[in-house]
Amino acid sequence: MISVDEALTEILRHIEPLEPEYVPILEALGRVLAEEIVSDIDIPPFDNSGMDGYAVRASDVAGAAREAPVRLKVIDSVAAGQVSHRRVEPGTAIRIMTGAPLPEGADAVVPFEDTNDYDRPKDTRLSAPADWIEVRKAVRLGDNVRPAGEDIRHGELVLARGRVLRPQEIGVLASLGRERVWVHRRPRVAILATGDELLEVHEPLTPGKIRNSNEYTNAALVMRTGGIPIRLGIARDTQADLKAKIRAGLEQGADLFLTSGGVSVGDYDVVKDVLGTEGRMQFWQVRMKPGKPLAFGLLPGRAPGQSVPLIGLPGNPVSAMVSFEQFARPAILKMLGHTVLDKPTIQAILDEPLTNSGRRAFVRVIVTRQDDGYHARTTGEQGSGVLTSMAKANGLAVIPEGIERVAAGSWVTVQMLDWPEGIRV
Ligand code: AMP
Ligand code: MG
Repeated sequence: MISVDEALTEILRHIEPLEPEYVPILEALGRVLAEEIVSDIDIPPFDNSGMDGYAVRASDVAGAAREAPVRLKVIDSVAAGQVSHRRVEPGTAIRIMTGAPLPEGADAVVPFEDTNDYDRPKDTRLSAPADWIEVRKAVRLGDNVRPAGEDIRHGELVLARGRVLRPQEIGVLASLGRERVWVHRRPRVAILATGDELLEVHEPLTPGKIRNSNEYTNAALVMRTGGIPIRLGIARDTQADLKAKIRAGLEQGADLFLTSGGVSVGDYDVVKDVLGTEGRMQFWQVRMKPGKPLAFGLLPGRAPGQSVPLIGLPGNPVSAMVSFEQFARPAILKMLGHTVLDKPTIQAILDEPLTNSGRRAFVRVIVTRQDDGYHARTTGEQGSGVLTSMAKANGLAVIPEGIERVAAGSWVTVQMLDWPEGIRV
C-alpha cells in the first residue's frame, strides 16, 4: 500500500497546466492568468476630484474657518465626464463633482459640507449656481484630489502570471481596457460510471439495481472545481463496453478521465484490466479510509506521443467523493494553472472520541464556530456507501496515519468542503 501523499505526487507528476486561451474577461472569472498584465496607462488617467465641492487654490482658503469664511467667485461648474476650460485664478473657484478632472490652477477641493452651498435649496443650486461661495474650512494642497496614477502607474506590472482572477481583478482588467485575457484552458473531464447494477436516474428501481449517483456527484465536483464534465454514462462490467466508452471519451477530446467503481478486487472489476491493455496502468491500494482502492493510468491520446490520464475512483459514493477531493481536484486545479492545490483546512476541537484503523482517515464532520474556536462533531454513520453523511458534512476531519485513537477535546485538522459561508453556530 502507498500513502495518500505518494499517490498524489505520482498523479501530479503526469499532469501539466493546459495551454492558454484568449477569453472575454467575464469568462476568466476564477481562472488562472497566463500572461503578465502591464498597464499602458495611468489610472486614474487625470487628477480628479474625490468629493462633490469646489476646486480651489489651497493658499486662498488657508485661513478659512466657520467664523472667518473666505469668499470666492464661482467661475464655472464641471461634472464627471466634462472638462472645464477655465483656470482657477486667485480668488476664484469652480464647482466640481466627484470624478471630474481638476481644473487648471486648482490644487485642492473643498467639499460642499465646508461651504455655504447647502444653505440654498437644491433646485436653485442646480439651475443657477451661486456667483459667490463661502468657504468655512481650510484645505491643504491636494486635499480631496485623486492624483493621476494613484491606483495604477503607466508601465506597472499590475497582475502577474498565475494570478487567480476574482471579481476585483476582472474590474482591474476592464479599467485597463482589456476585453479579453489569456487564461489556462479548462480541462474536459470525461466521467464514466461502471457497474452492471447501475440504472439511469429516470429508470424505476428493479431488484438488485441502484441508481447511478456517482456520475452526478463527479460531474458536479468537476464543475465546481472549474473543469468541463463530459458525461459518458454507464459502462457495463465488460472489457468491450468499457473500451468503447473510453474511446468515445477520447473522441470528445477528454483531457482527463474519471471513472468510478471497478477498481477493487471483485470478480467484475474490469477497469484495471482494460487500463492494463489499453494504456499504462498503475493500480494502488492507498493507505486511506474511505477510499483504499485507486487506479491511475495513462491512455494513449489522439495525437502521437500524447497521453490522457485516468483516475479510477472507487465505486462507493463516499469513497469516490473523498478520493476526488484528495486526487482528482488537485489534478484538475493543476491543469487549470493553479499552484495552490490543497483543500482549505482549519484546526477544530473534536467533540467526540474517534477510533481509526491506522490508515489516514477522512471523517465526515460538521464544523461550527464557537467562542473558543471551531468545533467538529461527526455526521453519525460513517459507512462508505452512506452518501447522506457527505450531504450533512461541511468538512472532513483528517486523522493522520498510525493514529488509532483520538480523544474528545483534541485538536484535529479539518479539510473544509464548504468554506467559509457554510460555517454557522
Ligand atoms: P465496485 O468498486 O465497482 O465494486 O463498487 C463498490 C460499491 O459502489 C458497490 O456497492 C457499487 O454498487 C457502488 N457503486 C459503484 N458505482 C456506483 C455509482 N455510479 N453510483 C452509485 N453507486 C455505485
Ligand atoms: Mg462495480
